[in-house]
Amino acid sequence: MCGVFGIFNHAEAANLAYLGLHALQHRGQESAGVVSNDSGTLHAVRQMGLVADVFDARRLALLPGRIAVGHVRYTTAGGSLPKNIQPLTVEYHSGSVAIAHNGNLVNADEIRDRLEHEGSIFYTNSDTEVILQLMARSHERDWVDNLFAALAQLRGAFSLVVSAGDRLVAARDPHGFRPLILGRIRGQHSHPRYGKDAWVVASETCAFDLIDAEKVRDIEPGELLVIDGDGLHSSRLKPQPRRFCVFEHVYFARPDSALDDVAVYEARVAMGRALAREAPAEADVVIPVPDSGVVAALGYAKEAGLPFEMGLIRNHYVGRTFIEPKDSIRHFGVKLKLNALPALLAGKRVVVVDDSIVRGTTSRKIVKMIRAAGASEVHVRISSPPVSGPCYYGIDTPTRAELIASSYSVDETARFIEADSLGYLSPEGLLDAVRRESGEAESGDVDEGYCSACFTGRYPVELPASAGRRQLRLIEV
Ligand code: AMP
Repeated sequence: MCGVFGIFNHAEAANLAYLGLHALQHRGQESAGVVSNDSGTLHAVRQMGLVADVFDARRLALLPGRIAVGHVRYTTAGGSLPKNIQPLTVEYHSGSVAIAHNGNLVNADEIRDRLEHEGSIFYTNSDTEVILQLMARSHERDWVDNLFAALAQLRGAFSLVVSAGDRLVAARDPHGFRPLILGRIRGQHSHPRYGKDAWVVASETCAFDLIDAEKVRDIEPGELLVIDGDGLHSSRLKPQPRRFCVFEHVYFARPDSALDDVAVYEARVAMGRALAREAPAEADVVIPVPDSGVVAALGYAKEAGLPFEMGLIRNHYVGRTFIEPKDSIRHFGVKLKLNALPALLAGKRVVVVDDSIVRGTTSRKIVKMIRAAGASEVHVRISSPPVSGPCYYGIDTPTRAELIASSYSVDETARFIEADSLGYLSPEGLLDAVRRESGEAESGDVDEGYCSACFTGRYPVELPASAGRRQLRLIEV
């Protein structure tokens, strides 16, 4: 769960990277960083916190150059520590390199164990540093060749933006687990060394809209795209079946983005419609859990012919910690974030739609809250299948034991969350909804083109036995 951004050949490269990161903030809220590249010299501003906390006009002015790379982070590998903040930077035999990574490498620990044994010293706990160490061991003279040699040794998920010298590189793992999209900014960007056009690369298209960039195309799975003064140059890693993460469409991406040529909003409406067909309910009103359930709930209401109302209102300004009064307040934790409207819910049979159930604690609190607002029945509908397995490719899911669907049946989960009924979208229904929006034909094979391992348990890249065993032994706060 991270967002990456890169820009090539723009007079205000760092400023636009900062704006792009604002649009990608939902992909990671722990830390943010921009590294600008001024003719091969790198300048970095990186810090824990939100984009708005990390950057101000004075700091952005410290980032010269026509190339920049940016990152927002949500820890999925390595600890949430200052030394792991991205973009990572190193100086090595072929120059100074900045790298921003979204995704998890499943063989990072294995490679790291081997390199440490051979004498490498690692500075961070992040799997991304493995890529830099492998680059340093490549004997090719050019840093892009070093990068290619490093990427060929990786297994798992990577959407990368990398810069050194006078070039920007975008690369995506051969399965294409995580999104990465190429855009262009039209205007007067001609520069003697950097060429005619200004190019951008981002995790999601919503970052392009903010900076008036147009989408050109997705970076292809397995593609390494070099952007330099002569234009664009592609090379390919060994091909693998495409496996785009379906959870990006369910929950993670912003609904105003298009990923792998699918409009996320339309895909979520289609999921809601399919859910209404698969799991109908005798009800008076459909309400979403904001914000994650809004678009699917709209689809559900349209398909079911039921009124859609915002029966729960969200407070967008809740921080991480809060101090509860000694005299405890009913439903305090959930009330901080959500408040139910009795005027809409009292005496009603309510369908409440959310995108997913992970541990089940959120749904349980929400059902209680809707009942307390006077609803006569609460029917929970989820626009994805039960999450029964952790993600090894870059989404932050808890361990298997914490996933309610790994030990409870649907009926048991319904009892736990105290709903009158509970219905999920089937894996087939989910994949059909996404495929229909992509213009692809329906497929008898759920796995074709997509990774839905968190729902099906079918992992496209197996985890080595040693994975996840490394312990943090150097903690900087
Ligand atoms: P839970 O209480 O664990 O069942 O959480 C379910 C809620 O978390 C749903 O409202 C989801 O929208 C949201 N959610 C799903 N996946 C994630 C994730 N990886 N990180 C944060 N929130 C998530």
